[in-house]
This record gives sequence, structure tokens and C-alpha cells, in this order.
Amino acid sequence: MNIKQQRLSQIPSVDECLKSSHGQRWLESHPRRIVLNSIRETLEEKRKEILKGLNPDVSFDSIVHEIEDRIKSFSSYRLIHVINATGVIVHTNLGRSVLSERAIENVINVARNYSNLEYDLKHGRRGERYSHLKDILIELFGAEDGLVVNNNAAAVLLCLNTFAKDREVIVSRGELVEIGGSFRIPEVMRSSGAILREVGTTNKTHLRDYRNALCGNTALLLKVHQSNYRVVGFTSDVKLEELTGLAREFKIPLMADLGSGCVIDLKRYGIHGEPTVQDVIRAGVDIVCFSGDKLLGGPQAGLILGKESMIKRIKKNPLLRAMRIDKMTIAALEATLMEYLDEEKATAEIPTIRMLLQPVDEIRRRAKRVCSLLKRGLQGYAEIGMISEGSRAGGGALPEVNLPTFVVAIKPLVIPVNKLESILRDGDTPVISRIKDDSLLLDMRTVEDHQIKRLVTCVTHAFRMAEEK
Ligand SMILES: *Cc1c(COP(=O)(O)O)cnc(C)c1O
Repeated sequence: MNIKQQRLSQIPSVDECLKSSHGQRWLESHPRRIVLNSIRETLEEKRKEILKGLNPDVSFDSIVHEIEDRIKSFSSYRLIHVINATGVIVHTNLGRSVLSERAIENVINVARNYSNLEYDLKHGRRGERYSHLKDILIELFGAEDGLVVNNNAAAVLLCLNTFAKDREVIVSRGELVEIGGSFRIPEVMRSSGAILREVGTTNKTHLRDYRNALCGNTALLLKVHQSNYRVVGFTSDVKLEELTGLAREFKIPLMADLGSGCVIDLKRYGIHGEPTVQDVIRAGVDIVCFSGDKLLGGPQAGLILGKESMIKRIKKNPLLRAMRIDKMTIAALEATLMEYLDEEKATAEIPTIRMLLQPVDEIRRRAKRVCSLLKRGLQGYAEIGMISEGSRAGGGALPEVNLPTFVVAIKPLVIPVNKLESILRDGDTPVISRIKDDSLLLDMRTVEDHQIKRLVTCVTHAFRMAEEK
């Protein structure tokens, strides 16, 4: 027997692993196929290593350990909750908006039971899933009618396809935006079958540019919210009010893709640059669409508001079926929209709005608390401080607005800061942070009170993990 064969013969069999006390224990709490797969994969890996000429540890204890790790990792969810310490409120990579308690309760209730999703309770016949949101949309935004689809990208695509297939849509060159996740207005327009008619230049577009582009084949004027950037300096764009005038004069509908879609007038709270949806509708725009999970603070959805006759046409578009909103989203969105009927409640209950309008003193208080807890736990391991910084709204809204915040700065003395960052990111409850100079920054604007204990545990645990490795 050569050395490889000798090593191979030391690997336990699948059966031995399965019949051991460990195997029996695994089978009690995990599906058989997961246990079997984990055993097979672990043993196979050892076999391969040996054949490659390596000398892996094939003791029973070590193998059991590895099998257990595999079972654990396979049985845990891949989509998990994280602590957002980035200070970016609407963070697309981190799931955008956190739902309000009321929205969560409504989702649970609708998910746990049958519902009248497409059933007209009054008349005992088939109903329409879009009907549930209609009244609240009209009440909140002052539109004639409304419709909700899967997300705003779908809303834009659907509207363009309905109103401008094989016809021209006039858009300013300053608004041909790309937002994250490769949503590009020109590409969406092409997919919808609409023909893009660009006017103006990157920095300047005048009303006459739109006027000169109008022709017999013009189906729509489109205004796109610049979202995640601003063109500054020598610039001008055409105000909505002017465009509505032109649209009326030529009897061409005007559509606005607002991107974020804000209900609350943020100017009253000192935040400038985001119009409210109500203002845009009042200005006379015929079709407005925006996201449900950006500044609105609800679930992923695309809200379409506008003239009754136009919404009616959209409802007849077969594409709608492919973009239809699901019942849990309706439940979450309805509850979120209801919160806005009382602005004071909305600012307190909808996490996205609460974080956005949070007084800096409150953030300072939270940072102070985290600081003192960490100082106690990390003496000798890190320097802990509190600094004044800026957080961002995110989600393509308010790109120029710097929201004053407080961050907890951790300067590790025993490990490199990027190691601390990666351990935190890879933990059981991942903490997403950023690094500045030699410090790890935890922005307290997006960390809520109920997460503080967990956050502190994660950070102290991370130092312990680093020490063990
Ligand atoms: C975010 C955004 C979209 C896409 O919205 P989703 O809800 O992510 O599909 C479209 N247009 C603009 C201007 C946006 O900012």
C-alpha cells in the first residue's frame, strides 16, 4: 500500500459518519439530504486532497467538525438582515426601505389568510387587485386615478409602451439618466418600442428645443428626475410648468418619471431639492411614476398616477399582467400610504422618513451610547471616538444634500482596520460600515435604537474573532 492509499483508507465511510452519534444528532434536526450531501462533500474533498498529494487531517473529530460546518452553512438563509451603519438611508444594495410596523403587520395578516385580492366583497363577484390602492392614491396625491406595478422601471416601461409604441418621445439630453443596476432611460425606451427623440444638450435644454422637435409622430413629452446627479454651473432645464403649457398647446401628454417620489414637503424640514408628488400632479403633468421603496419608504413597487382615461389605457395593456403587483406588496404599500394621512405619524412611523428627518441631537445621543458601550468592551483593543460627519439620502434622491450626522469611529490597535471591516461584514448579523483613514465609521443615522445592543456585540465579537485567527 502506498502512502496515498494508506491515507485514503483512513477516511471514514459515509455510513460510519451517518451512524455515529453525531450523524444521528444531525438527522434529528436537519433534512436527511442535507446531512448526506454534507457528509459526501466533506469526504470527497478529503479524497481529492489526498490524491493531489496533500496530507489533510482525516481524524474523525476533524471530519465531524467540517461536516457540521457544511450542514450549518447550507441550512442558514442566504438573504439575511444586516445592520446598515453606512448612513445611506435608501441603500439599494441593502434592501432600500425598512417597512413600518403597521406595514409589516398588514403583510403578515394578508399572508397568513385568504384575502379579497381579486374579489368584490360587495357584489360577490370577481374584483380587481388594483382597486385596493385606488382611493388612497387619489386622496394622498390628488390624482384622478392610480395603478401600481412591480417597480418603477416596470412603470416607466409600461407607460412608454402604452402611449408611445413606434412613436416619438421627446426627452432632454440632460435627463438621459442611468441609475444603479443598469436602468438607463434610453435603453428602457428602446425596449418599450418607443422612439427616443433627444433634445437640447447635456447642460442646457430650452422650451424651444421641445417645441422644435414636436411633429406628427410625437406621442409623449417625458421629464425624468435627475435622481442621482446634478448638472451644476452653466445650466438650464425647462420647468415642469412650462412643459405642461407646451403639452396642452399641442395636446400631447406629458409624463414625469420622478424616481424617488416624496409625499412630505421636505423643505419644511430644511431639506431642499425634492419636489412632492402632489406638486408635480398639481402642475398639470398627465402621468407621473415613482418608486414605492425609495423616499416613500414602502415596499418595492412602481406607482403610476394620472388621468383616469390614461390609467384605463394602461390597464388594457397585456404587459401589465407581467408586471402585476403581489398581494403582500399591496398590503405593505396600502399600510404605508395610510400612514401619510397623518404627517406627524408618518415622520415617526415610517423608518425611511424617520431616519431622514431625525434631529442630529438624537443621533448624537445614540452615538454617545454606542461609544461608551464600546469603550467599556474594547479597552486596549481600539480607540473609540465620536465624530461629526455627513450621511446621504440615497436611492437616487437628494444627491447634493449632506445630512449632518454623528458616527462612532473605531481605530483598532490590534488588527488592521480593513480586517475589522471584513469580519463585521461577514458575521452572523453582518454590519455594513465604511472606512475613513485608519478608522471604521459606524453612522448612527441608519442604526436604530433596538439594534444598538446587537451592534455592540458584533463589534466586540469581531475583535475576539480576529484574536482567535
Ligand atoms: C430609481 C429610479 C427608477 C427605477 O425605479 P425602481 O423602483 O428601482 O425600478 C427609474 N427612474 C428614476 C429616475 C429613478 O430614480
